[in-house]
Amino acid sequence: MIRRLAAALATAFLVCSPLTAQSVRAPRDHFGHDIGADRTLADWGALTSYFEHLAQASDRVAVDTLGLTTMGRPFVMLTITSAANHDRLGELRDLQLKLADPRSISGEAELSRLLDEGKTVVLITQGIHATEVGASQMSANLAYELASSDSEKIREILDNVILLQIPSLNPDGLQWVADWYMSLVGTEYEAAPLPWLYQFYVGHDNNRDWYAFTQEETILTVQGAHNAWHPQIVHDVHQMGGNGARIFFPPYIEPWDPNIDPALTAAVSQLGTYMAAELTSQGKDGVVVNAQYDAFTPARAYMHYHGAARILSETASARMATPVTISPDVLGPGRNFNAAERSWNFPSPWEGGDWGLPDIVEYQKSGALALLTNAARNRRYWLENFHGVNRRAAEGWADWPDAWVIPSGQDNEAGITYALRSLTMADVEVRQAEAPFTVGSSSFGAGSWVISMNQPYASFANTMLEVQEYPDLREYPGGPPQRPYDVTAHTLGYLLDFDAIAVDGAIEVSLSDPVAVPDFDFRLPEHLSGRDAPRVGLYKSWQEPMPEGWQRWVFDQHDMVYDTLHDADIQGGALADYDVLIFQAQSAASIRSGHAEGTVPPPYAGGLGDVGAEEVRAFVERGGRVIAIETATDYLRELFDLGISDRTDRLPNTEFYIPGSILRLELDAASEIADGMRSEVAAWYWRSSMAFDVDDPRVRVAARYGSGDPLLSGWVLGGEHVAGQPAILEANIGEGSVVLFGFQPNYRAQTMATWPLLFNAIR
Ligand SMILES: [Zn+2]
Repeated sequence: MIRRLAAALATAFLVCSPLTAQSVRAPRDHFGHDIGADRTLADWGALTSYFEHLAQASDRVAVDTLGLTTMGRPFVMLTITSAANHDRLGELRDLQLKLADPRSISGEAELSRLLDEGKTVVLITQGIHATEVGASQMSANLAYELASSDSEKIREILDNVILLQIPSLNPDGLQWVADWYMSLVGTEYEAAPLPWLYQFYVGHDNNRDWYAFTQEETILTVQGAHNAWHPQIVHDVHQMGGNGARIFFPPYIEPWDPNIDPALTAAVSQLGTYMAAELTSQGKDGVVVNAQYDAFTPARAYMHYHGAARILSETASARMATPVTISPDVLGPGRNFNAAERSWNFPSPWEGGDWGLPDIVEYQKSGALALLTNAARNRRYWLENFHGVNRRAAEGWADWPDAWVIPSGQDNEAGITYALRSLTMADVEVRQAEAPFTVGSSSFGAGSWVISMNQPYASFANTMLEVQEYPDLREYPGGPPQRPYDVTAHTLGYLLDFDAIAVDGAIEVSLSDPVAVPDFDFRLPEHLSGRDAPRVGLYKSWQEPMPEGWQRWVFDQHDMVYDTLHDADIQGGALADYDVLIFQAQSAASIRSGHAEGTVPPPYAGGLGDVGAEEVRAFVERGGRVIAIETATDYLRELFDLGISDRTDRLPNTEFYIPGSILRLELDAASEIADGMRSEVAAWYWRSSMAFDVDDPRVRVAARYGSGDPLLSGWVLGGEHVAGQPAILEANIGEGSVVLFGFQPNYRAQTMATWPLLFNAIR
C-alpha cells in the first residue's frame, strides 16, 4: 500500500489490499542487477520505485512519504509487519503510545493487556551519511526478504515486530553520491570524493542534529517516526574506516550520559552482543563490540531519552562501491581493542584481503535480521522494559530536581524560543505559569515556563538543561586521559544564553496546557538589512567544510543576503563587488590548495592558489574586511604576516585537550564586536579551536577566554593554558581590516549566544 501524507504525523492508517507474495519482484529483476554489487549504486528514484512496487505487491509492506527533504525529494518510510498486524496498525500504535506514557494506563489489568497484545516496534534508519553507501542499498534486500519469505524466522519477525524502515535519512545526498559515483566509474576518478557537502547545509554533521532539530530530514524523522511511534529499538546503520574491525555493535564504551535509564544501557548491551554473537556464529570474522563509540551526547542519541535502545552499527568501508584490498599490516589497535589480536570483544579477527560493497551489504543485512529476531523473540521483555523506563521517568528520579523553571522576563526571547522548540519537539511537556509563584527560595513571574521532571521524557529535559560533568576517564589508572569520541557539553542555557533554574518542592500555581512547538524566532540585526548593509561573500571551497554549511543555514534562517564565492569567482576578481569576505573554519592548506590535481575531476581540483591569495590581499588593502574562523585564521596570518600564533598548538594532548566544551568568554566593551552584549558570554571551544599569542602592534584583542577557571560545562584538560588568553583578534591592514575568531561563534547552529559576535564583525 502506498500512502502519501502531507503532514508528518500520520494518524489514519489505510487498509492494505491483500495480494500474494508470489508477485513480489526480487531486486535483481527490478533494478537489472544485484543490489550491493561491486561498482553499482541504485539511485533514489530507483530505490523509491522499488519500495512502491513492494507496497503494491505485498500486504506486509506499506510506504509513506513523510514529507520533502531539504532539496525537495520525497522522504519515505516503510512499515513492514504481518498482514494481520497491518489490518490493525492504528490500534497497535495506540497501544504502543500508551506504553510510552504510563500515566495513561488505567491499572494492572490494562497494562497486562497492553503487554500481551503489543508488538516490538523497531525503527531502522539507513544512509544518514551518504558516502557510507551500503545501508541504503541493503534496505532494498532487507525489505524484499521480509516481503517475500515464508521462512519460520521471517514469520516470527513479521508476527511480533512492527518494522519502520527509513531507507535513507538523507535522500539528497544519496542521489548526489550515486550520480557522482556512477558518472566516474571506470574513469581515473572512480570513487573520488564528492566536492560538496552531502547534506546541503550540514554534511556529515546531520547525525549531530538530534536535539537542535534544524534540518528537514531530522524533523521529519523525529515527528513522523520517533514521536509517532516511540519505538523500543532504533538501529542506525553506518560505516567506518576500512582498516580495522569489519563491523561494530554495542556495548558502547564509557561514558554513558547518566540521564539514560540503567535498564536501557543493559538492553543496548544485550542486543548488540546478541547481534555480534549471531554474525560470529555465521562465520563472519572481524565483529567487535565494546569498542570505539561511547554514549554521552544526545546530539546523536535522541532515542536514549525516549525509552528506546540505540543500536549503532559501523561496518568497514570500501571506496564507496569500489572494492579494496586490505593488507594485514594495517590492522592494528583501535579504541578498546586491537584488530590484529583475538580478544573477548573481538573473538574472531578478520585477517585482511578483499573487501567490497557485497561484503558490506551482507554484514549489514545479517545484523538487521539478528536485531529483528531478538526483537521478535523477546517481544514481552522489550515491552516491559520500555514501559519500565518510561514509568520510572514519569515518577521522577531521585537525583533529578522536581522541575526546571525558565523564568519569564529574560532579555532573550529568541534563545528561549529556540530552547522551547527543542524541548517540545522532543515531546517534553512544557507549561506556562498563569501567575507569579515561589518554590523554596526562588520566586518566578507569571508566564515562566515549567518543565516538571516527572514525565516520560524528563531525561531529555534534564540533560539539555543541566551542566554536564564529563567524567575524567584515563586509559589506565594514573595514565593519560581517554579522549572523548564526541563533544562533552550541550547545556542549552549556555548555548542559547538564557537562565533555567532547577527547583525542588511543590509548584503551587495554575499551569497552562503543554505549549505547542514554536517556530524559530531569528531576527537579523538591523545593520545587516536594508540598502546600507555590507555586501557579504562567504567562501565555499570544493573541500567544503561543515562549519561553512552551518553558517549558510544560520544566514538563510535570518533571511540575510550574501553570496557564495568559489575559488574561480575570487580568482576572477569577484571581490570587487563585496565589502566583507568570510572564511569559515577550514585549514589554510585546504583553502590554498584544495583537492590535489588528479584526485578529482579538473574543475574541482586546486584551491585559491596564488591568484586567489593576491585577490584577497588586494581586497583588504583597498578597504575590504575579511573574517576568518578558527583554523582559517592561519590563512590570514600567513597572507598578512601577522605576529600571532596558537599557543595550544605547542601542547601535547596529554597536557591540554578540550574536545567540545563550553567556556566563559570575556568581551572587550571597547570593540564593536561586543556591541549590545554583556561583558561575559558562553562560548564553544572545539578540539581545533585556538587561544592566541599576540606579538604584533597592528593586532587588538576583542575577547579573551575566561580568566581563572574558564569551564562552564563539559570537560577540559589544562584549562589554565587558555584562561585569560586572546580569543578574538582584530587588525587594520592597509585601508581594510581582518577579524580572527579562535573558536566557532556558530557551532552546529547551536551557539546562539555567540552569533551576535559574528554578526557584529560583519560591517
Ligand atoms: Zn556514519
